[in-house]
Amino acid sequence: MDEKFDCIIVGAGVAGLAAAMILARNNLKFLLIEKGDFPGSKNVSGGVLWGSDLAKLVPNYWDEDAGWDRFINHRRLTFMDNQSAFSVDFKSSHFNETPYTGVVVLRSKFDRWLAGKVQEAIDASEYAMDSFIAPNILVEEILMENGNAVGIRTGEDRFYSDSVIIAEGVNNLLTRQVGLQDTYVPADHILTGIKEIIRFDERVLEDRFQLNGRSGMSNEFVGFSTDGVEGGGFLYTNKNTISLGLVLGLKDLREKEKAPYDILNTFKQHPVISDMIRGGEVVEYSAHVVSSGDKRIIPKRLCKGGLLVCGEAANLLMNSGKAIQGMDYAMRSGILAAEAIVNAKKTSDFGEASMQRYQAALEDSYIMKDINNFQDAVHLLHDPVMTQKVPNLLCDFGRNFFSIKNEPTRKARQMLGESVKKYSSYWELMKVGVKGAKAL
Ligand SMILES: Cc1cc2nc3c(=O)[nH]c(=O)nc-3n(C[C@H](O)[C@H](O)[C@H](O)COP(=O)(O)OP(=O)(O)OC[C@H]3O[C@@H](n4cnc5c(N)ncnc54)[C@H](O)[C@@H]3O)c2cc1C
Repeated sequence: MDEKFDCIIVGAGVAGLAAAMILARNNLKFLLIEKGDFPGSKNVSGGVLWGSDLAKLVPNYWDEDAGWDRFINHRRLTFMDNQSAFSVDFKSSHFNETPYTGVVVLRSKFDRWLAGKVQEAIDASEYAMDSFIAPNILVEEILMENGNAVGIRTGEDRFYSDSVIIAEGVNNLLTRQVGLQDTYVPADHILTGIKEIIRFDERVLEDRFQLNGRSGMSNEFVGFSTDGVEGGGFLYTNKNTISLGLVLGLKDLREKEKAPYDILNTFKQHPVISDMIRGGEVVEYSAHVVSSGDKRIIPKRLCKGGLLVCGEAANLLMNSGKAIQGMDYAMRSGILAAEAIVNAKKTSDFGEASMQRYQAALEDSYIMKDINNFQDAVHLLHDPVMTQKVPNLLCDFGRNFFSIKNEPTRKARQMLGESVKKYSSYWELMKVGVKGAKAL
C-alpha cells in the first residue's frame, strides 16, 4: 500500500478506539492496528468504565443491550481481617439515571463492540474505503525521520503517515523505543492484576447482590484480601458473572516471595468472599500488569513531531482507593490526542509545537488535575498502617460493637480505644488521618 495515512494508531484498546472514532468522524484517513485477533482479545480489566465519556463516542449507548454489562448504583469499600469484613456501603437510585456515572464492561466484548461502532463511523466517512481497522498485526517499530514520526514497521512492511498515536497500553515498548519513557521503570510503581470471571445463574446473581434490571455493584477490598502484600481486591457484577480479583505490588510480591494465584485462593476462602461466590463456576482466569498511579512514571513528554502517546502507554492511571481509573483516562486521552491530530491536519502542521497542544489539553483535563491532586492518596494506599492495621482494628471494633451479650455493654469509645491499642496507637492513626484528610 503506497498511500500515506493522516494517522496510524497503534493499539485498539480503549485509548486507540476512542482516538479512531474522533478521526473517523472528522473525515481523516487512518489505520488502526491491533496485534490481537480482534480488538479486546488481549485486554484484561476489572472493570468499571467510570464517567460519561462513552456517551460522547456512542450517544445513547444505554439503549443497546450490547457492549456494556451493568451500570453501577451500588458502591462498597470493605476493610478485612482474616474472619471479618467492615464495609462502607452506598447505594442510590440517583445513579440509575443516564448518562450513567460508571458501567461494568468485559473488555473482550466491549472493545469488539466499540470497534464495530468505529467501523460504522468509518463507513459513514469520506474515507470509507481508505481507513482501516487492521487486527493481527504487531507493530515492531515507529519510523522516525529528523525527530518526527513518519510511519510504522511491521515485519518487512512499512506504512507511512503524517502522524502516529501510540496507544499500546502499559507494556509500552514503542514508547520506550522512541525515547519518551525511561527504559527502566522501577517495579515499585508497577502492579500485577489478576482476575477470575465466575459465572452464576443470572437470577442467583441478581438476588445475591441485590441487582435490579441492569443495575450493578462494585466492591473494593483493603486488608486481608492481599495477604500482607501491598495492593487491594475488587469485585464487580457483570450480567451473569462476577469479576473477582486483586492488584498486587510487584516489588512487594517479590520481596515477600508470594505468588498472586495463592493470594487469590486465600482471598476466595475468606468467609465473606466464599459466601459471595458459593455455587459459581470459574470460567476465565487472566493476569495483566497495571500502573500504580504514581506520577513519577508518567513520561515528562508525551509527544514528538508527528507523535502522541495516550492511555496506559503513558501510564495514565489513578488508584486513590476509591476506584481504579484507567479506562476513562485512556478514553479521554485518546479523544484529546485525536483532536490534536484533527487540528494539525487543518493547518497541515504536524510538527512538535503543534503536537504539544495535546500535552497542554491533557494538563488542563481532569486526568492530570486528578493525578496531581491525589498523589498523596496514591501513596497512602501503599502505607501498611492503612492497608494492614486500620482494617484489623476496624474489624476488631466491629466484632465488639456488634456483639450483644447478656452482660453490661461498654461504651463504643471504650471498645474503639481497646482496638486502637491492640493494633496501632492514637498517634499513628492521627498521622495517617492527617495524611488522609490532606490526600482526599
Ligand atoms: C486486573 C485489572 C483491573 C482493572 N480494573 C479497572 C477498572 O475497574 N476500571 C478502569 O478504568 N481501569 C481498570 N484497569 C486498568 C485498565 O484496564 C487500563 O488502564 C486500560 O485498559 C488502558 O487502556 P489502553 O487503551 O491505554 O490500553 P490497553 O487496553 O492495554 O490496550 C492496548 C492495546 O494495544 C495493543 N498493542 C500493544 N502493543 C501493540 C503493538 N506493538 N502492535 C499492535 N497492537 C499493540 C494491545 O493488544 C491492546 O489491545 C484494570 C487493569 C487490570 C489489569
